[in-house]
Amino acid sequence: MSVESSSVCARCAAQGTSCCVSVEGVSGPPLTPADIERISTATGRAATEFVVEREVDLIEHLAWEQDDPATRGLVREGRVRSLARRGDECIFLSANGCELGSARPLLCQRFPFMRVNGVIDVKPGGFCLAVDEAADLPQLLTMLGTGRKQLQAIDEQLQRELTK
Ligand code: SF4
Ligand code: SF4
Repeated sequence: MSVESSSVCARCAAQGTSCCVSVEGVSGPPLTPADIERISTATGRAATEFVVEREVDLIEHLAWEQDDPATRGLVREGRVRSLARRGDECIFLSANGCELGSARPLLCQRFPFMRVNGVIDVKPGGFCLAVDEAADLPQLLTMLGTGRKQLQAIDEQLQRELTK
């Protein structure tokens, strides 16, 4: 969920298409090491209670980084860590939305955007009601309560956290 109280996100969640929900068995949002620390601090929970880890083969790894270069470094030694799900929902999704507030993973804060060659784009695949309804990128940014500067700052933070 890109923003915490966007009406389009509330409508999306109400119709069951929120980015916090997916087909059962699909991993939750990938995490940087600092995401895990922030979530542990915010919730008082050990990482083992909310992190799942899976293997990523080289083809998926390279395709991922080519499609979304800001995620370079998320896959380490062929493995990526993600938020666990309860059934088809993120374990931090409650009736009031995301329980994590400002400790949400960086990739949740940035959804549904990515940046290729410095140009902001929308992630291919998946469903996002805001993407469906927005006439263009400026309107999409406004609907999701974000902007180019905020997305740039998130990408820079991602790279700082992933190159440590
Ligand atoms: S951490 Fe929050 S925003 Fe991210 S998938 Fe889970 S409930 Fe949604
Ligand atoms: S999929 Fe898009 S519209 Fe739906 S909750 Fe996520 S960011 Fe909001």
